[in-house]
Parts: sequence; C-alpha cells; structure tokens
Amino acid sequence: MTDTVTDTDTGTVTDAATRTATETDALLARRDAVVMGTYGRPVLSLVRGSGTRVWDADGREYLDLVAGIAVSALGHCHPAVAEAVSAQLGRLGHVSNLYLNEPQVELAERLIGLLGLDGRIFFANSGAEANECALKIARRTGRAEIIAAEGSFHGRTLGALSITGQPSKRAPFEPLLPGVTFVPYGDAEALRAAASERTAAVFLEPTLGEAGVVPPPAGYLVAAREICDATGALLVLDEVQSGIGRAGAWFLHQAEGVRPDVVTLAKGLGGGMPIGACVGIGPAGHLLRPGDHGSTFGGGPVVCAAALAVLDTIEREDLIVSAATVGDLLADGIRAAGLPAVTGVRGRGLWYAITFGDARAAAFEAAARAAGFLVNTVGPDTVRLAPPLVFTAADAQAFLAALPGIAAAAQAAHEHSKVSA
Ligand code: PLP
Repeated sequence: MTDTVTDTDTGTVTDAATRTATETDALLARRDAVVMGTYGRPVLSLVRGSGTRVWDADGREYLDLVAGIAVSALGHCHPAVAEAVSAQLGRLGHVSNLYLNEPQVELAERLIGLLGLDGRIFFANSGAEANECALKIARRTGRAEIIAAEGSFHGRTLGALSITGQPSKRAPFEPLLPGVTFVPYGDAEALRAAASERTAAVFLEPTLGEAGVVPPPAGYLVAAREICDATGALLVLDEVQSGIGRAGAWFLHQAEGVRPDVVTLAKGLGGGMPIGACVGIGPAGHLLRPGDHGSTFGGGPVVCAAALAVLDTIEREDLIVSAATVGDLLADGIRAAGLPAVTGVRGRGLWYAITFGDARAAAFEAAARAAGFLVNTVGPDTVRLAPPLVFTAADAQAFLAALPGIAAAAQAAHEHSKVSA
C-alpha cells in the first residue's frame, strides 16, 4: 500500500506512487501545453490493456472497474473486436453515407432484432449525437416542448446539454434550446403535471448514470409510458449507459417491461470504438425525412464491424447473465464487508454505486488506485463501479479481498484532509 498525497489546490487525493511517476508527470506536462483544459487532470497514463486489466506508463497493473466509463463491454483488446476492426480496415475503412456498407445494415438488423420491436436506426458517433438525433425526431412531431429529469445527463453538445438536468453544466452556455421543463426524477405525478398536448417528447434515463446509478422507484417508467400515451408525447429512453447488457438485460427498458418510442445507445455498443445509435420505434422511425440529419462518419464500416463483434461475443459467451451474476457477487460482498462510512450499494447488472455518509469518494478512489483497482468518483460521496462485462468472479473476489485495506486507507486520508483543511 502506498501513502496518499492531497493536492492542496484541487483537494484531489492521489497515491504517492502515481504522483511521483516521472513518465506520467512528463506526459501530463506535455498535455497541459496542447490539450484544452476541459477535463480534470488525470493522474494515470494508461498504455496497455488486456481483458479486465490495464497497465500504466510506469508498469503498474490495475483491475479496471471503470471500463472507460461503462464502455469497454468486452474489456480491453478483446480479440473479437481487434480482429473485426483490422479485417474491416484492411478491406474498406470509410465510405461515408453516400454509399451503402453492409456492416451498417447488418448492425441495424441485429439491434432491431435484439430490441424485438419494429424500428429504424440512425447511426452517430457518440451518446450526445444519438440524443441530438432524438431531439430532431421530437421536433418533427410538430411540437416544441420537451420534458427531462433533474439530475439527468444526456451529453455535452448544445441540444443534449439543453435536456441535461444539471444547472451548473448548462448555465455557462445559455441560452440553450427553449421549451425544456425539468421534473424531479422518479416522481410520476410531477411528470404527469408537466406533460400536455404540447409535449413533443419526454427524455428519461431508465436509471440515472452520471448522477450515480440512481434507479427510479418501481413503476416510474410504466407511468411515464402511460403519460406519453395520454398526451401523444414520444417516450425517449436514453440507454447510452444502461444499454448493451450493462444493467442485466440487453436494454434496461426490456427488464422494466416498457416500450419506448425512441432509444438512444452508445458507450458499450462499440466496445471502445466510437459509435452511437438513435432507434426510432414504429412511427418514430419515420419522422425524419431525407436531408433532415446526417453524419460523415456515422455508421462507418469499421465501427459497425466492431459493434457486431461486441454483440456476437456477448451473445455467444452469455455475458449478460454472467455479468449480472458477478455483479450480484460484487454488490453483496461490498454490502457484507461493513466498511466504514458506507451508507449503501445500489444498482443492478454490472453497474453499481457505493455511497458514503460523507465526502470521501475521491479518497476512496485514490486508495483503490494505490491498491491496483480503478473505480470512478461520480459525486463527493459516490463512487461508481462499471467493470467490463467480462469481469469474472475471481476479479470480483480480488476487489472484495482488497476492500478493507482500501476503506481503511480512504478513512485515514479523509481524516487527514479534515485536519489539514
Ligand atoms: N447519455 C447518457 C445516459 C450518458 O451517460 C452519457 C455519457 O456519459 C451520454 C448520454 C453522452 O454520451 P457521450 O459522452 O458519448 O456523448
């Protein structure tokens, strides 16, 4: 176990081994000179990955419970993805949407089949872009008003930001899209009161992801469906984070028994390659007309080949079931560990948040990293676990075995930061 160091400017707690690593520090200095400062300052430089493990520039190995923010469904450098990408790239890399490419059509067919609904797909390059397409579908209803949830996250482009329920992210870029109303997440009556015949669409995450894996109360999504049916609004479910097996089903709305009008996807779909998808179900798949939307890169053959490899592998290896089983093991083990200050473990599938009774999430993340585990702080008191779906029971046991030490180190760092504050 390494000592932790608190950065007095930012309050960030890092482990000494990482902090003094010369390779990482050198790269950070180069980056600071040429890369925009939109992100926090990373404390690791990752250079290699294999399965559920990654290695940093200084040769340290980590068990990855972040997966590039719930992205790398098959872990790192899965041969199925690597082979699909290199084979496609060796044949034909890019064509634009001026021309047909078969991997795109095949991927659309596969996704529609997995959804089990009649639908049509627009391929984009990210989650935010998938939601931009959904916003255009909403506008094509002829109605202009949108309802979204407080605390939600739908992306950083100006349209997606307009429906993101986090005022601090929106404020610097206002004015944004007009006509957006935010309602408390999980409150069906508030949604009912806000919806009307002027509502074009209700945008919801089936479980809030960036807000810390927050599920709604039972029946909320069913109520949202009813409210949309009553007002004629589209129900848009943002499954960018919850989809592709993350939450114990191909799509979380399937587990909830709710039929959306539009589903947006990204993250896990490409297994690390950038792809987003907006699926219009039934009539919503026909609202956009020729010329209404487009993307030079969207649905390119290489990313579609990667996504097909991801879907094939999840299916062939029954990863949704095994991920949910391992997820249960992980969550039960954390609950049973009786760690100091832990107030809860919430989530499903292989997608969890650990909540603390105080603002020690960053200290916990740093202590985990020092012990060789990557987890992700999503709030002052909340850490997210979203490992690759190939995470094994042995991986879960390794994390659980290290947990008491991580929690004790976090406790010490947290006490220390209170004293020096
Ligand atoms: N929607 C949800 C639910 C997300 O969690 C995210 C990203 O975290 C996005 C949209 C935006 O995706 P991207 O970062 O690929 O634009």
